[in-house]
Amino acid sequence: IDPPPTLLHAFRAAAARTPDHPALVYFDARLTYAETDALSDSVAGHLAARGVGRGDRVAVMLQNSPHFVLALLGAWKAGAAVVPLNPMYKAAEVGHALRDSGARAVICSGRAWADHVRDTAAAAGVGIALTADERQLQTRNDPRVLGFEAVPTEVDDLLAVARAGHPAPEGRELTTDDIALISYTSGTSGTPKGALNLHRGIVHNAERQRTGHPVPPGAGYFVLAPLFHITGLVCELGACLANGGTLVLAYRFEAGVVLDAFLEHRPAYTVGPSTAFMALGAHPGATPDHFSSFLVISSGGAPVPPALVEKFRAGFGPYIRNGYGLTECTAPCASVPPQHEAPVDPVSGTLSVGVPGPDTVVRIVDETGADVPFGEQGEIAVRGPQVVPGYWRLPEATAAAFPGGELRTGDIGFMDAEGWLYVVDRKKDMINASGFKVWPREVEDVLYTHPAVREAAVVGVPDAYRGETVKAYVSLRPGAAADPAELSAYCAGRLAAYKYPREVEILPELPKTTSGKILRRDLRSPK
Ligand code: ATP
Repeated sequence: IDPPPTLLHAFRAAAARTPDHPALVYFDARLTYAETDALSDSVAGHLAARGVGRGDRVAVMLQNSPHFVLALLGAWKAGAAVVPLNPMYKAAEVGHALRDSGARAVICSGRAWADHVRDTAAAAGVGIALTADERQLQTRNDPRVLGFEAVPTEVDDLLAVARAGHPAPEGRELTTDDIALISYTSGTSGTPKGALNLHRGIVHNAERQRTGHPVPPGAGYFVLAPLFHITGLVCELGACLANGGTLVLAYRFEAGVVLDAFLEHRPAYTVGPSTAFMALGAHPGATPDHFSSFLVISSGGAPVPPALVEKFRAGFGPYIRNGYGLTECTAPCASVPPQHEAPVDPVSGTLSVGVPGPDTVVRIVDETGADVPFGEQGEIAVRGPQVVPGYWRLPEATAAAFPGGELRTGDIGFMDAEGWLYVVDRKKDMINASGFKVWPREVEDVLYTHPAVREAAVVGVPDAYRGETVKAYVSLRPGAAADPAELSAYCAGRLAAYKYPREVEILPELPKTTSGKILRRDLRSPK
Protein backbone atom coordinates (compact mmCIF):
# COMPACT_ATOMS: atom_id res chain seq x y z
CA ILE A 1 0.00 0.00 0.00
CA ASP A 2 1.11 3.53 -0.72
CA PRO A 3 -0.42 5.91 1.83
CA PRO A 4 -0.09 9.71 1.79
CA PRO A 5 2.45 11.20 4.28
CA THR A 6 -0.10 11.81 7.06
CA LEU A 7 -3.77 11.34 7.86
CA LEU A 8 -4.15 15.11 7.57
CA HIS A 9 -3.16 14.85 3.90
CA ALA A 10 -5.79 12.13 3.43
CA PHE A 11 -8.41 14.25 5.20
CA ARG A 12 -7.64 17.32 3.09
CA ALA A 13 -7.85 15.25 -0.08
CA ALA A 14 -11.28 13.96 0.99
CA ALA A 15 -12.39 17.51 1.86
CA ALA A 16 -11.32 18.67 -1.61
CA ARG A 17 -13.15 15.77 -3.31
CA THR A 18 -16.40 15.86 -1.37
CA PRO A 19 -16.64 19.12 0.62
CA ASP A 20 -20.39 18.74 1.24
CA HIS A 21 -20.33 15.10 2.38
CA PRO A 22 -20.94 14.68 6.13
CA ALA A 23 -17.67 13.98 7.91
CA LEU A 24 -19.06 13.84 11.46
CA VAL A 25 -22.45 12.83 12.78
CA TYR A 26 -23.20 13.16 16.48
CA PHE A 27 -26.76 12.55 17.59
CA ASP A 28 -28.60 15.26 15.61
CA ALA A 29 -25.54 17.27 14.58
CA ARG A 30 -23.73 16.96 11.26
CA LEU A 31 -20.55 18.62 10.08
CA THR A 32 -19.50 18.36 6.44
CA TYR A 33 -15.90 17.85 5.33
CA ALA A 34 -15.64 21.56 4.44
CA GLU A 35 -17.02 22.60 7.84
CA THR A 36 -14.77 20.20 9.73
CA ASP A 37 -11.80 21.54 7.76
CA ALA A 38 -12.65 25.20 8.48
CA LEU A 39 -13.43 24.63 12.18
CA SER A 40 -10.21 22.70 12.76
CA ASP A 41 -8.25 25.39 10.85
CA SER A 42 -9.56 27.88 13.35
CA VAL A 43 -8.54 25.70 16.33
CA ALA A 44 -5.06 25.45 14.79
CA GLY A 45 -4.89 29.22 14.28
CA HIS A 46 -5.85 29.82 17.89
CA LEU A 47 -3.34 27.31 19.29
CA ALA A 48 -0.58 28.79 17.13
CA ALA A 49 -1.47 32.35 18.19
CA ARG A 50 -1.23 31.25 21.83
CA GLY A 51 2.26 29.90 21.25
CA VAL A 52 1.82 26.22 20.40
CA GLY A 53 4.72 25.49 18.07
CA ARG A 54 5.75 22.70 15.79
CA GLY A 55 6.48 19.54 17.79
CA ASP A 56 4.79 20.85 20.97
CA ARG A 57 2.39 18.54 22.76
CA VAL A 58 -1.35 19.14 23.08
CA ALA A 59 -3.27 16.89 25.48
CA VAL A 60 -6.80 15.98 24.36
CA MET A 61 -9.07 14.45 26.97
CA LEU A 62 -12.50 14.03 25.38
CA GLN A 63 -15.10 11.37 24.68
CA ASN A 64 -16.16 10.26 21.19
CA SER A 65 -17.48 13.61 19.98
CA PRO A 66 -16.93 16.06 17.10
CA HIS A 67 -14.97 18.07 19.66
CA PHE A 68 -12.36 15.31 19.83
CA VAL A 69 -11.94 15.36 16.05
CA LEU A 70 -11.68 19.17 15.86
CA ALA A 71 -9.11 19.14 18.67
CA LEU A 72 -7.06 16.38 17.03
CA LEU A 73 -7.06 17.91 13.53
CA GLY A 74 -6.54 21.41 14.95
CA ALA A 75 -3.50 20.36 16.97
CA TRP A 76 -2.02 18.51 13.99
CA LYS A 77 -2.63 21.52 11.74
CA ALA A 78 -0.72 23.61 14.29
CA GLY A 79 2.19 21.17 13.86
CA ALA A 80 1.78 19.66 17.35
CA ALA A 81 1.72 16.08 18.62
CA VAL A 82 -1.46 15.01 20.44
CA VAL A 83 -1.48 13.28 23.82
CA PRO A 84 -4.83 11.47 23.94
CA LEU A 85 -6.00 11.04 27.53
CA ASN A 86 -8.79 8.91 28.88
CA PRO A 87 -11.57 11.26 30.08
CA MET A 88 -12.01 8.99 33.11
CA TYR A 89 -8.48 9.76 34.28
CA LYS A 90 -8.26 11.33 37.71
CA ALA A 91 -5.79 14.01 38.83
CA ALA A 92 -2.81 11.68 39.41
CA GLU A 93 -3.08 10.03 35.98
CA VAL A 94 -3.64 13.34 34.17
CA GLY A 95 -0.77 14.89 36.11
CA HIS A 96 1.63 12.10 35.14
CA ALA A 97 0.77 12.41 31.44
CA LEU A 98 0.88 16.23 31.37
CA ARG A 99 4.23 16.38 33.18
CA ASP A 100 5.76 13.43 31.38
CA SER A 101 4.78 14.69 27.92
CA GLY A 102 5.54 18.33 28.75
CA ALA A 103 2.18 19.38 27.27
CA ARG A 104 1.78 23.05 26.30
CA ALA A 105 -1.99 22.90 26.03
CA VAL A 106 -4.87 20.81 27.30
CA ILE A 107 -8.32 20.37 25.72
CA CYS A 108 -10.92 18.72 27.96
CA SER A 109 -14.57 18.93 29.02
CA GLY A 110 -15.66 21.91 31.11
CA ARG A 111 -16.60 19.52 33.88
CA ALA A 112 -13.21 17.76 34.01
CA TRP A 113 -11.56 21.16 33.91
CA ALA A 114 -13.51 22.38 36.91
CA ASP A 115 -13.19 19.05 38.79
CA HIS A 116 -9.47 18.48 38.67
CA VAL A 117 -7.76 19.33 35.38
CA ARG A 118 -7.47 23.07 36.16
CA ASP A 119 -5.35 22.43 39.26
CA THR A 120 -3.41 19.57 37.67
CA ALA A 121 -2.64 21.60 34.56
CA ALA A 122 -1.54 24.58 36.64
CA ALA A 123 0.78 22.37 38.70
CA ALA A 124 2.21 20.86 35.50
CA GLY A 125 2.78 24.32 33.99
CA VAL A 126 0.34 23.89 31.11
CA GLY A 127 -0.40 27.42 29.92
CA ILE A 128 -3.17 26.97 27.36
CA ALA A 129 -6.58 25.39 27.87
CA LEU A 130 -9.69 24.88 25.79
CA THR A 131 -12.84 23.34 27.19
CA ALA A 132 -15.86 21.76 25.57
CA ASP A 133 -19.22 20.44 26.62
CA GLU A 134 -19.74 17.26 24.67
CA ARG A 135 -22.97 16.22 26.34
CA GLN A 136 -25.42 18.65 24.87
CA LEU A 137 -27.56 17.06 22.18
CA GLN A 138 -27.58 18.73 18.85
CA THR A 139 -30.15 20.00 16.38
CA ARG A 140 -30.11 18.44 12.97
CA ASN A 141 -28.16 20.16 10.21
CA ASP A 142 -27.18 23.14 12.29
CA PRO A 143 -23.56 23.00 13.35
CA ARG A 144 -23.89 26.42 14.97
CA VAL A 145 -25.87 25.02 17.83
CA LEU A 146 -23.13 22.69 19.04
CA GLY A 147 -23.28 23.70 22.67
CA PHE A 148 -20.80 24.63 25.31
CA GLU A 149 -21.10 25.27 29.00
CA ALA A 150 -19.98 28.29 30.97
CA VAL A 151 -16.37 27.83 31.97
CA PRO A 152 -13.87 29.89 33.94
CA THR A 153 -12.73 32.98 32.07
CA GLU A 154 -9.05 32.10 31.84
CA VAL A 155 -9.73 29.37 29.31
CA ASP A 156 -11.29 29.47 25.89
CA ASP A 157 -14.19 27.43 24.68
CA LEU A 158 -13.20 24.97 21.97
CA LEU A 159 -16.25 25.48 19.78
CA ALA A 160 -16.22 29.25 20.11
CA VAL A 161 -12.59 29.13 19.01
CA ALA A 162 -13.45 26.75 16.18
CA ARG A 163 -16.17 29.09 14.95
CA ALA A 164 -14.01 32.23 15.20
CA GLY A 165 -12.68 31.69 11.67
CA HIS A 166 -8.97 31.97 12.49
CA PRO A 167 -6.89 30.97 9.48
CA ALA A 168 -4.67 27.90 9.99
CA PRO A 169 -1.04 28.86 10.60
CA GLU A 170 1.34 28.72 7.64
CA GLY A 171 4.45 26.60 7.45
CA ARG A 172 3.39 23.84 9.82
CA GLU A 173 3.22 21.08 7.21
CA LEU A 174 3.69 17.74 8.95
CA THR A 175 5.98 15.03 7.66
CA THR A 176 5.47 11.30 7.88
CA ASP A 177 8.30 11.07 10.46
CA ASP A 178 6.68 13.54 12.89
CA ILE A 179 5.19 12.31 16.14
CA ALA A 180 1.41 12.23 15.74
CA LEU A 181 0.50 10.92 19.19
CA ILE A 182 2.08 10.16 22.49
CA SER A 183 -0.19 7.33 23.60
CA TYR A 184 -0.01 6.31 27.21
CA THR A 185 -0.54 2.55 27.26
CA SER A 186 -3.82 1.58 28.86
CA GLY A 187 -2.25 0.34 32.02
CA THR A 188 -3.46 -3.24 32.13
CA SER A 189 0.16 -3.96 33.05
CA GLY A 190 1.51 -1.17 35.24
CA THR A 191 2.86 2.38 34.90
CA PRO A 192 1.74 4.10 31.70
CA LYS A 193 4.49 4.65 29.13
CA GLY A 194 4.12 7.11 26.25
CA ALA A 195 4.32 5.19 22.95
CA LEU A 196 5.46 7.46 20.10
CA ASN A 197 2.97 6.90 17.28
CA LEU A 198 4.40 8.53 14.16
CA HIS A 199 2.22 9.84 11.34
CA ARG A 200 3.73 7.09 9.18
CA GLY A 201 2.25 4.38 11.39
CA ILE A 202 -1.16 6.03 11.68
CA VAL A 203 -1.64 6.63 7.99
CA HIS A 204 -0.23 3.19 7.09
CA ASN A 205 -2.68 1.39 9.37
CA ALA A 206 -5.61 3.67 8.50
CA GLU A 207 -5.01 3.02 4.81
CA ARG A 208 -4.56 -0.66 5.44
CA GLN A 209 -7.91 -0.80 7.27
CA ARG A 210 -9.52 1.09 4.40
CA THR A 211 -8.20 -1.30 1.76
CA GLY A 212 -8.25 -4.50 3.85
CA HIS A 213 -11.82 -4.04 5.11
CA PRO A 214 -13.36 -2.29 2.13
CA VAL A 215 -16.64 -0.40 2.29
CA PRO A 216 -17.87 2.05 -0.39
CA PRO A 217 -16.28 5.53 -0.30
CA GLY A 218 -18.35 7.86 1.86
CA ALA A 219 -19.94 5.04 3.90
CA GLY A 220 -20.79 5.36 7.61
CA TYR A 221 -18.14 4.35 10.17
CA PHE A 222 -19.54 3.79 13.64
CA VAL A 223 -17.10 4.61 16.43
CA LEU A 224 -17.50 1.82 18.96
CA ALA A 225 -13.99 1.96 20.44
CA PRO A 226 -12.88 5.08 22.31
CA LEU A 227 -11.05 7.62 20.13
CA PHE A 228 -8.55 8.25 22.92
CA HIS A 229 -7.42 4.64 22.39
CA ILE A 230 -5.37 3.75 19.33
CA THR A 231 -7.95 1.26 18.00
CA GLY A 232 -10.68 3.91 17.73
CA LEU A 233 -8.35 6.59 16.47
CA VAL A 234 -6.72 4.54 13.72
CA CYS A 235 -9.22 1.82 12.76
CA GLU A 236 -12.30 4.04 12.92
CA LEU A 237 -11.43 7.75 12.63
CA GLY A 238 -8.35 7.06 10.48
CA ALA A 239 -9.97 4.53 8.15
CA CYS A 240 -13.06 6.76 7.80
CA LEU A 241 -11.22 9.97 6.92
CA ALA A 242 -8.96 8.08 4.50
CA ASN A 243 -12.11 6.79 2.76
CA GLY A 244 -13.99 10.10 2.78
CA GLY A 245 -16.56 8.40 5.04
CA THR A 246 -18.98 9.66 7.66
CA LEU A 247 -17.82 9.12 11.22
CA VAL A 248 -20.79 8.35 13.46
CA LEU A 249 -20.06 9.30 17.08
CA ALA A 250 -22.10 8.43 20.16
CA TYR A 251 -20.16 9.90 23.09
CA ARG A 252 -19.44 6.87 25.30
CA PHE A 253 -20.36 3.20 24.83
CA GLU A 254 -23.86 2.49 26.05
CA ALA A 255 -25.49 -0.54 24.43
CA GLY A 256 -29.03 0.90 24.06
CA VAL A 257 -27.80 4.22 22.61
CA VAL A 258 -25.49 2.40 20.21
CA LEU A 259 -28.28 0.10 18.95
CA ASP A 260 -30.57 3.11 18.32
CA ALA A 261 -27.78 4.86 16.43
CA PHE A 262 -27.24 1.75 14.26
CA LEU A 263 -30.87 1.97 13.13
CA GLU A 264 -30.80 5.72 12.62
CA HIS A 265 -27.50 6.03 10.77
CA ARG A 266 -27.19 2.61 9.08
CA PRO A 267 -23.37 2.43 9.34
CA ALA A 268 -21.39 -0.01 7.16
CA TYR A 269 -18.27 -0.43 9.30
CA THR A 270 -17.28 -0.68 12.93
CA VAL A 271 -14.44 -1.96 15.08
CA GLY A 272 -14.83 -2.57 18.78
CA PRO A 273 -13.48 -4.53 21.70
CA SER A 274 -15.06 -7.98 22.05
CA THR A 275 -16.76 -6.86 25.29
CA ALA A 276 -18.79 -4.32 23.27
CA PHE A 277 -20.19 -7.12 21.11
CA MET A 278 -20.90 -9.18 24.24
CA ALA A 279 -22.87 -6.23 25.65
CA LEU A 280 -24.71 -5.52 22.38
CA GLY A 281 -25.56 -9.20 21.93
CA ALA A 282 -26.85 -9.49 25.49
CA HIS A 283 -29.04 -6.38 25.21
CA PRO A 284 -32.72 -7.41 25.31
CA GLY A 285 -33.60 -5.02 22.47
CA ALA A 286 -30.99 -6.27 19.98
CA THR A 287 -32.35 -7.75 16.72
CA PRO A 288 -30.75 -8.78 13.40
CA ASP A 289 -32.15 -5.53 11.94
CA HIS A 290 -29.81 -3.50 14.09
CA PHE A 291 -26.82 -5.06 12.35
CA SER A 292 -28.15 -5.44 8.82
CA SER A 293 -26.39 -2.33 7.40
CA PHE A 294 -22.91 -3.58 8.31
CA LEU A 295 -20.44 -4.81 5.70
CA VAL A 296 -17.51 -4.94 8.15
CA ILE A 297 -17.62 -5.74 11.86
CA SER A 298 -14.25 -6.27 13.37
CA SER A 299 -13.02 -6.84 16.90
CA GLY A 300 -9.58 -5.75 17.95
CA GLY A 301 -7.48 -4.93 20.95
CA ALA A 302 -8.64 -7.81 23.16
CA PRO A 303 -9.09 -11.59 22.88
CA VAL A 304 -12.10 -12.77 20.86
CA PRO A 305 -13.69 -16.01 22.12
CA PRO A 306 -14.74 -18.23 19.18
CA ALA A 307 -18.08 -18.80 20.94
CA LEU A 308 -18.80 -15.06 20.73
CA VAL A 309 -18.29 -15.09 16.96
CA GLU A 310 -20.60 -18.09 16.52
CA LYS A 311 -23.31 -16.82 18.89
CA PHE A 312 -23.23 -13.40 17.23
CA ARG A 313 -23.57 -14.84 13.75
CA ALA A 314 -26.35 -17.20 14.80
CA GLY A 315 -28.22 -14.44 16.67
CA PHE A 316 -27.70 -11.42 14.43
CA GLY A 317 -26.08 -12.40 11.14
CA PRO A 318 -22.70 -10.64 10.93
CA TYR A 319 -19.38 -12.41 11.20
CA ILE A 320 -17.02 -10.72 13.68
CA ARG A 321 -13.58 -10.41 12.09
CA ASN A 322 -10.70 -10.75 14.57
CA GLY A 323 -7.71 -8.38 14.50
CA TYR A 324 -4.59 -8.15 16.63
CA GLY A 325 -2.73 -5.04 17.61
CA LEU A 326 -1.07 -3.01 20.32
CA THR A 327 -0.58 0.66 21.02
CA GLU A 328 3.10 0.01 20.18
CA CYS A 329 2.21 -0.98 16.64
CA THR A 330 -0.31 1.82 16.16
CA ALA A 331 -3.26 -0.61 16.34
CA PRO A 332 -3.36 -3.57 13.97
CA CYS A 333 -0.46 -5.70 12.82
CA ALA A 334 -2.55 -8.74 11.84
CA SER A 335 -6.14 -9.17 10.72
CA VAL A 336 -8.44 -11.52 8.86
CA PRO A 337 -8.50 -10.81 5.10
CA PRO A 338 -11.96 -9.96 3.74
CA GLN A 339 -12.45 -13.11 1.68
CA HIS A 340 -11.66 -15.45 4.61
CA GLU A 341 -12.89 -16.52 8.00
CA ALA A 342 -10.36 -17.00 10.79
CA PRO A 343 -9.59 -20.66 11.53
CA VAL A 344 -9.81 -22.07 15.05
CA ASP A 345 -6.78 -24.03 16.29
CA PRO A 346 -7.97 -27.63 16.71
CA VAL A 347 -5.82 -28.27 19.79
CA SER A 348 -6.34 -25.18 21.95
CA GLY A 349 -9.64 -23.98 20.48
CA THR A 350 -8.11 -20.49 19.95
CA LEU A 351 -9.46 -18.28 17.15
CA SER A 352 -6.75 -16.97 14.82
CA VAL A 353 -6.17 -13.20 14.79
CA GLY A 354 -5.52 -13.30 11.04
CA VAL A 355 -2.41 -12.84 8.95
CA PRO A 356 0.26 -10.12 9.17
CA GLY A 357 -0.63 -6.95 7.26
CA PRO A 358 1.22 -5.51 4.25
CA ASP A 359 4.91 -4.68 4.80
CA THR A 360 4.64 -6.28 8.28
CA VAL A 361 6.87 -9.14 9.43
CA VAL A 362 5.72 -11.20 12.41
CA ARG A 363 8.12 -13.68 14.02
CA ILE A 364 7.67 -16.10 16.90
CA VAL A 365 10.80 -15.92 19.04
CA ASP A 366 12.40 -17.37 22.16
CA GLU A 367 13.96 -15.41 25.05
CA THR A 368 17.07 -14.69 22.96
CA GLY A 369 15.11 -13.40 19.98
CA ALA A 370 15.82 -16.47 17.83
CA ASP A 371 12.98 -17.96 15.79
CA VAL A 372 11.36 -20.92 17.57
CA PRO A 373 10.84 -24.07 15.49
CA PHE A 374 7.88 -23.73 13.17
CA GLY A 375 4.47 -24.25 14.78
CA GLU A 376 5.75 -23.89 18.37
CA GLN A 377 4.74 -21.24 20.85
CA GLY A 378 6.93 -18.23 21.58
CA GLU A 379 6.78 -14.48 21.98
CA ILE A 380 5.25 -12.54 19.09
CA ALA A 381 7.70 -10.02 17.58
CA VAL A 382 6.68 -7.43 14.97
CA ARG A 383 8.53 -5.28 12.48
CA GLY A 384 6.83 -2.88 10.09
CA PRO A 385 6.04 0.75 9.28
CA GLN A 386 3.44 0.91 12.06
CA VAL A 387 5.82 -0.16 14.85
CA VAL A 388 6.64 2.87 17.01
CA PRO A 389 10.27 3.97 17.40
CA GLY A 390 9.94 3.69 21.19
CA TYR A 391 8.60 5.28 24.36
CA TRP A 392 8.81 8.98 25.12
CA ARG A 393 11.93 9.70 27.17
CA LEU A 394 12.40 6.08 28.30
CA PRO A 395 15.54 4.79 26.56
CA GLU A 396 15.85 1.68 28.74
CA ALA A 397 12.24 0.58 28.36
CA THR A 398 12.58 1.30 24.63
CA ALA A 399 15.72 -0.83 24.29
CA ALA A 400 14.03 -3.69 26.16
CA ALA A 401 10.79 -3.64 24.17
CA PHE A 402 12.25 -2.83 20.72
CA PRO A 403 15.58 -4.66 20.31
CA GLY A 404 16.93 -3.67 16.89
CA GLY A 405 13.70 -1.79 16.17
CA GLU A 406 11.58 -4.95 16.38
CA LEU A 407 8.67 -4.88 18.84
CA ARG A 408 8.56 -7.65 21.46
CA THR A 409 4.88 -7.72 22.23
CA GLY A 410 4.84 -9.60 25.53
CA ASP A 411 2.22 -11.88 23.95
CA ILE A 412 2.72 -15.60 23.44
CA GLY A 413 1.57 -16.97 20.11
CA PHE A 414 2.21 -19.34 17.23
CA MET A 415 1.69 -19.55 13.48
CA ASP A 416 0.14 -22.42 11.55
CA ALA A 417 1.34 -23.89 8.27
CA GLU A 418 -0.78 -21.46 6.23
CA GLY A 419 0.57 -18.39 7.99
CA TRP A 420 -2.40 -17.75 10.32
CA LEU A 421 -1.30 -16.15 13.57
CA TYR A 422 -2.71 -17.19 16.96
CA VAL A 423 -2.38 -15.20 20.19
CA VAL A 424 -2.25 -17.64 23.09
CA ASP A 425 -2.15 -15.09 25.89
CA ARG A 426 -0.10 -12.41 27.58
CA LYS A 427 3.21 -13.87 28.74
CA LYS A 428 2.79 -12.45 32.23
CA ASP A 429 -0.71 -13.90 32.71
CA MET A 430 0.43 -17.53 32.56
CA ILE A 431 -0.72 -19.59 35.53
CA ASN A 432 1.70 -22.13 36.95
CA ALA A 433 -0.38 -24.94 38.49
CA SER A 434 1.86 -27.66 39.96
CA GLY A 435 4.42 -26.81 37.28
CA PHE A 436 1.87 -27.07 34.46
CA LYS A 437 1.35 -24.04 32.24
CA VAL A 438 -2.23 -22.83 32.08
CA TRP A 439 -3.16 -20.04 29.70
CA PRO A 440 -6.22 -18.20 31.02
CA ARG A 441 -7.60 -17.59 27.50
CA GLU A 442 -8.08 -21.28 26.81
CA VAL A 443 -10.18 -21.66 29.97
CA GLU A 444 -12.10 -18.44 29.24
CA ASP A 445 -12.87 -19.63 25.71
CA VAL A 446 -14.48 -22.77 27.19
CA LEU A 447 -16.51 -20.73 29.68
CA TYR A 448 -17.79 -18.55 26.83
CA THR A 449 -19.35 -21.62 25.19
CA HIS A 450 -21.69 -21.97 28.22
CA PRO A 451 -25.04 -20.40 27.34
CA ALA A 452 -25.36 -18.52 30.66
CA VAL A 453 -21.93 -16.87 30.55
CA ARG A 454 -21.64 -13.28 29.42
CA GLU A 455 -18.05 -12.42 30.45
CA ALA A 456 -15.23 -14.54 31.83
CA ALA A 457 -11.80 -13.88 33.30
CA VAL A 458 -9.43 -16.53 34.59
CA VAL A 459 -6.53 -15.89 36.96
CA GLY A 460 -4.12 -17.85 39.14
CA VAL A 461 -4.66 -17.72 42.89
CA PRO A 462 -2.19 -18.95 45.55
CA ASP A 463 -2.65 -22.59 46.52
CA ALA A 464 -0.74 -24.37 49.29
CA TYR A 465 -0.53 -27.63 47.39
CA ARG A 466 -0.21 -26.59 43.71
CA GLY A 467 1.56 -23.25 44.11
CA GLU A 468 -1.15 -21.66 42.03
CA THR A 469 -4.58 -22.82 41.10
CA VAL A 470 -7.03 -21.72 38.43
CA LYS A 471 -9.89 -19.45 39.43
CA ALA A 472 -12.61 -18.11 37.12
CA TYR A 473 -14.69 -15.00 37.53
CA VAL A 474 -17.79 -14.78 35.37
CA SER A 475 -20.75 -12.51 34.82
CA LEU A 476 -23.98 -13.99 33.52
CA ARG A 477 -26.26 -13.02 30.65
CA PRO A 478 -29.39 -11.13 31.77
CA GLY A 479 -31.98 -13.61 33.01
CA ALA A 480 -29.58 -16.59 32.87
CA ALA A 481 -28.84 -18.83 35.82
CA ALA A 482 -25.82 -20.97 36.65
CA ASP A 483 -24.03 -21.76 39.89
CA PRO A 484 -20.27 -21.93 40.50
CA ALA A 485 -20.16 -25.72 40.96
CA GLU A 486 -22.00 -26.25 37.68
CA LEU A 487 -19.61 -23.96 35.77
CA SER A 488 -16.58 -25.65 37.31
CA ALA A 489 -17.93 -29.07 36.35
CA TYR A 490 -18.74 -27.79 32.83
CA CYS A 491 -15.07 -26.87 32.37
CA ALA A 492 -13.81 -30.05 34.05
CA GLY A 493 -15.63 -32.02 31.37
CA ARG A 494 -13.84 -30.10 28.61
CA LEU A 495 -10.32 -29.37 29.89
CA ALA A 496 -7.39 -31.30 31.38
CA ALA A 497 -7.56 -31.75 35.16
CA TYR A 498 -4.89 -29.11 35.89
CA LYS A 499 -6.63 -26.50 33.70
CA TYR A 500 -10.23 -26.38 34.84
CA PRO A 501 -11.17 -23.73 37.43
CA ARG A 502 -11.56 -25.33 40.83
CA GLU A 503 -13.01 -22.07 42.05
CA VAL A 504 -15.63 -20.03 40.20
CA GLU A 505 -17.01 -16.74 41.45
CA ILE A 506 -19.99 -15.00 39.88
CA LEU A 507 -19.88 -11.20 39.80
CA PRO A 508 -22.54 -8.80 38.46
CA GLU A 509 -19.93 -7.33 36.09
CA LEU A 510 -16.20 -7.84 35.53
CA PRO A 511 -13.76 -4.95 35.97
CA LYS A 512 -12.72 -3.37 32.65
CA THR A 513 -10.60 -0.57 31.32
CA THR A 514 -12.58 2.22 29.67
CA SER A 515 -11.34 0.85 26.36
CA GLY A 516 -13.39 -2.24 27.22
CA LYS A 517 -10.70 -4.72 28.22
CA ILE A 518 -11.37 -7.07 31.07
CA LEU A 519 -8.81 -6.38 33.82
CA ARG A 520 -7.49 -9.71 35.06
CA ARG A 521 -5.01 -7.74 37.15
CA ASP A 522 -7.79 -6.31 39.33
CA LEU A 523 -9.19 -9.78 39.89
CA ARG A 524 -5.82 -11.19 40.94
CA SER A 525 -5.58 -8.63 43.71
CA PRO A 526 -9.07 -7.32 44.43
CA LYS A 527 -9.08 -3.75 45.68
P1 ATP B 1 -0.54 -2.10 28.82
O1 ATP B 1 0.39 -1.99 27.65
O2 ATP B 1 -0.53 -0.93 29.70
O3 ATP B 1 -0.38 -3.41 29.54
P2 ATP B 1 -2.51 -3.07 27.06
O4 ATP B 1 -1.49 -4.16 26.86
O5 ATP B 1 -3.92 -3.44 27.26
O6 ATP B 1 -2.01 -2.13 28.24
P3 ATP B 1 -2.95 -2.19 24.37
O7 ATP B 1 -1.88 -1.74 23.46
O8 ATP B 1 -4.24 -1.47 24.38
O9 ATP B 1 -2.37 -2.10 25.82
O10 ATP B 1 -3.33 -3.71 24.10
C1 ATP B 1 -2.55 -4.61 23.40
C2 ATP B 1 -2.73 -6.01 23.94
O11 ATP B 1 -4.09 -6.45 23.79
C3 ATP B 1 -1.92 -7.02 23.19
O12 ATP B 1 -0.59 -7.07 23.66
C4 ATP B 1 -2.68 -8.32 23.45
O13 ATP B 1 -2.33 -8.88 24.71
C5 ATP B 1 -4.11 -7.86 23.52
N1 ATP B 1 -4.81 -8.09 22.23
C6 ATP B 1 -5.05 -7.20 21.26
N2 ATP B 1 -5.74 -7.73 20.24
C7 ATP B 1 -5.94 -9.04 20.57
C8 ATP B 1 -6.60 -10.15 19.93
N3 ATP B 1 -7.22 -10.02 18.76
N4 ATP B 1 -6.58 -11.34 20.57
C9 ATP B 1 -5.95 -11.49 21.76
N5 ATP B 1 -5.35 -10.49 22.42
C10 ATP B 1 -5.34 -9.28 21.83
